[in-house]
Amino acid sequence: MPAKVVIVGAGFAGLVAARELQTAGVGVEIFEARDRIGGRAWTEERMSHTLELGATWVHWMQPFVWTEIARYGQEIYPSPDYERAYWIADGQVREGAEADLDAALARPQAKIFEGSEEFFPYPHDPLHVLSADYDGPDDVPERFRAADHGSVLDALRDGTFSQEEIDVCDAYWSAGYNGYTATASPLMAKHWAALSDHRLSLLDEQTLKFKLRNGMRGLYENIAADLRCPIHLSSPVTAVEHDDDGVRLTLEDGSVREADAVIVTIPIGALRYVGFTPDLPAPMRKVVAEGTNSTGFKIWIKVEGHHNFIATAPTGSPIAMMKSEYFLDDGTTILVGFGPDHTTIDLHDTAHVQQVVHQWRPDLTVVDSDGHDWCADRWSGQTWATIKSGQFIEGWSTFHDTDTRLYFAGADIAKGWNGVVVDGAIETGITTARRVLRELGTRGVKSAAAAQ
Ligand SMILES: Cc1cc2nc3c(=O)[nH]c(=O)nc-3n(C[C@H](O)[C@H](O)[C@H](O)COP(=O)(O)OP(=O)(O)OC[C@H]3O[C@@H](n4cnc5c(N)ncnc54)[C@H](O)[C@@H]3O)c2cc1C
Repeated sequence: MPAKVVIVGAGFAGLVAARELQTAGVGVEIFEARDRIGGRAWTEERMSHTLELGATWVHWMQPFVWTEIARYGQEIYPSPDYERAYWIADGQVREGAEADLDAALARPQAKIFEGSEEFFPYPHDPLHVLSADYDGPDDVPERFRAADHGSVLDALRDGTFSQEEIDVCDAYWSAGYNGYTATASPLMAKHWAALSDHRLSLLDEQTLKFKLRNGMRGLYENIAADLRCPIHLSSPVTAVEHDDDGVRLTLEDGSVREADAVIVTIPIGALRYVGFTPDLPAPMRKVVAEGTNSTGFKIWIKVEGHHNFIATAPTGSPIAMMKSEYFLDDGTTILVGFGPDHTTIDLHDTAHVQQVVHQWRPDLTVVDSDGHDWCADRWSGQTWATIKSGQFIEGWSTFHDTDTRLYFAGADIAKGWNGVVVDGAIETGITTARRVLRELGTRGVKSAAAAQ
């Protein structure tokens, strides 16, 4: 009798897990709360252009997403190089070439990355130095544990860095953590460095340079087209009962589904809306209650004229980083921006957005602004997951240790590119599905007939 697995969520993790299970001959059904697939990847026509409301950039150093790009014959192209840079530091607006901003970042970023080589000898096994297999210097695990606490900017408080250096890094990481730097685990920045050969230029290239010509939908629609299983849209799951033999899902409409196993791909920020019986273990509940460090937003801004620049500002400014993306034939430019706190801005309040833009460029006229408030969205509750102080060690990894037929997947709990990119979602879709296959194979399969 073939096994039956239900998947909660039709983002990249859920879609890829379904494909993996389907290939092994397992019966699969996906339940998705939204009326669309893609989750936090969402390609839409907005402001007379195709825009990404969620994920945008990809890279060949992200192995799982690159495989999908190759598999489905998708192409990439670069974001523009910037002609000018504006950065607010020590209360003043500075202006220069992009290389001048890079120069201001170089020394403090090297300090923030310090330890990345010894802490992450295997970047896709980020807790390796705490494992029994670790055979490096004795003091590394203790220093690794210590580096999970405090703020990502603490490294710059030794009196040797100027306020300008601190402010440009604050802006960079407010955008990167998409949240406040004060609560951001220093280990995440070091992990990103390790995933980027310890080079800032490669980190920038991996996270902000290459986009998909057909957008993210060129990937998620192709994966979905390979699925023969039902994807039930507008079908939120409200409860999951699980034991050693199987699972029972309750949907918002009161209907119930039984299966041999469930893979839950709900972002950490939206897990609190699902009741688990038995309840999740205390370490997982703690992470769900705390949430991630991801409290920010992404905004698209259209301005009159063609302007090619990047602008940054430290904590206190709603927008931490903003850069030109598209130069339209009607003589306008579309900029993309990121900030640490979604409550400090109304993504559609053009007048307020103009005020914020004026702190760097009083000459610009904002004609439109758009975006999706992912933090206020019940089905995400956050943007890309970033790591709060203490959560690098006691956070995402706790979701790997389930011992019933309840399994988790999703970018937020990836081992490689954890939280931030689609790559991690695909990684966990594959690895969790393979774990389910292994464990269903060894522990036997409940009655699939009852689950149909
Ligand atoms: C603003 C923004 C910018 C980003 N930029 C990039 C980028 O440039 N490059 C990049 O690679 N990545 C980027 N990311 C990250 C990337 O989008 C995510 O890491 C990835 O899409 C997560 O996939 P997932 O399947 O793990 O989760 P999701 O895509 O969130 O999928 C989970 C699914 O579960 C559904 N769900 C939630 N609750 C329930 C429920 N109770 N019942 C049923 N279904 C439920 C959700 O609706 C969702 O569809 C960005 C994300 C955001 C938000």
